[in-house]
Amino acid sequence: IQGEDDQIRILVTGSSGLVGQAIQHIIETCSDARFARRPNETWIFATSKDADLRDEKQTQDLFDRVKPTHVIHLAAFVGGLFRNMSQKATFYHSNALLNQNVIHTAHTHNVTKLVSCLSTCIFPDKTTYPITEEMVHAGEPHVSNYGYAYAKRMVDVMNRAYHEQYGSNFTSVIPTNIFGPHDNYHLEDSHVIPGLIHKCYLAKRNGTPFVIGGSGTPLRQFIYSRDLAKLFIWVLREYDSVKPIILSVPEEDEISIKKVAESIATAMEFEGPVVWDTTRSDGQYKKTASNAKLSNLFPEFEFTPFEQALKESVDWFIENYESVRK
Ligand code: NDP
Repeated sequence: IQGEDDQIRILVTGSSGLVGQAIQHIIETCSDARFARRPNETWIFATSKDADLRDEKQTQDLFDRVKPTHVIHLAAFVGGLFRNMSQKATFYHSNALLNQNVIHTAHTHNVTKLVSCLSTCIFPDKTTYPITEEMVHAGEPHVSNYGYAYAKRMVDVMNRAYHEQYGSNFTSVIPTNIFGPHDNYHLEDSHVIPGLIHKCYLAKRNGTPFVIGGSGTPLRQFIYSRDLAKLFIWVLREYDSVKPIILSVPEEDEISIKKVAESIATAMEFEGPVVWDTTRSDGQYKKTASNAKLSNLFPEFEFTPFEQALKESVDWFIENYESVRK
């Protein structure tokens, strides 16, 4: 834990991960005054080494040491489809414990503002499009990840309950698929972009085809972790509602997995064959989320163009190959 005494003390949980590292990068390097560190702010970036947030006492000790006035809560027990399907009890139990400990301890330690992180994969399975913030509790989540999904949905329940009973200013954001430096590049247990970056890297190195599971037709909205980091900082400073807000690129920027794979091959300068393994399932065709609330409240925000963000992510992966999570 690093930090000095000052008036505003912002604790970021889960800061060693994809999103936490992006927030740290923006806070340390961004010169745009809307997102840069302010003179009266001390940022404290915590990981599981500082406290296992599933443990109430360790969580309280962390808050006693840091004395945060504000919290960005990113820590979560996360994993790909296979782990979600096979460990539903652990996904529920770990996430419920750490969310409950962080939210309740923020209350007992008089935290002024808390921003927690939900995910578009917690929305109802059977839904209409585009998905909006109002739909979080409007039906059962997909059967494959309901342990994770219900634990995350309880964050919104707690935010409302603590607001109604104590007047707390605790809120949540809902990002779509995130990618960027410091992702998890495991070949089986990762999200689509980091998984494909790793596969393409190996195909180029070994002179083998770049093989991709599925047909490439599904559509997704991807957000660059460094754009998301700026939006987290904006939410912490400017967004004053306990209701969740979707942080996503516009609906028209939804792109196909085929386009993603082609862009990765270009960024990696891979010139070998690209093969689609259509024996592998595609998953949901689309999950389009509305960013109307964000674009109404922050219309001037500019997302990094996808190709540029992907190129930065691929370059970072190549430079850090030996030490990345894989
Ligand atoms: P990562 O897996 O990259 O990082 C997870 C972080 O949580 C790590 O810093 C890890 O610490 C910490 N952590 C895990 N368990 C504990 C624990 N018991 N106690 C304390 N810290 C713990 O996650 P992301 O950055 O990808 O995700 C950040 C948030 O965004 C999460 O809430 C996630 O649910 C959400 N999200 C992610 C999406 C994505 O596409 N990645 C999409 C939508 C939402 P350590 O390294 O020390 O183990």
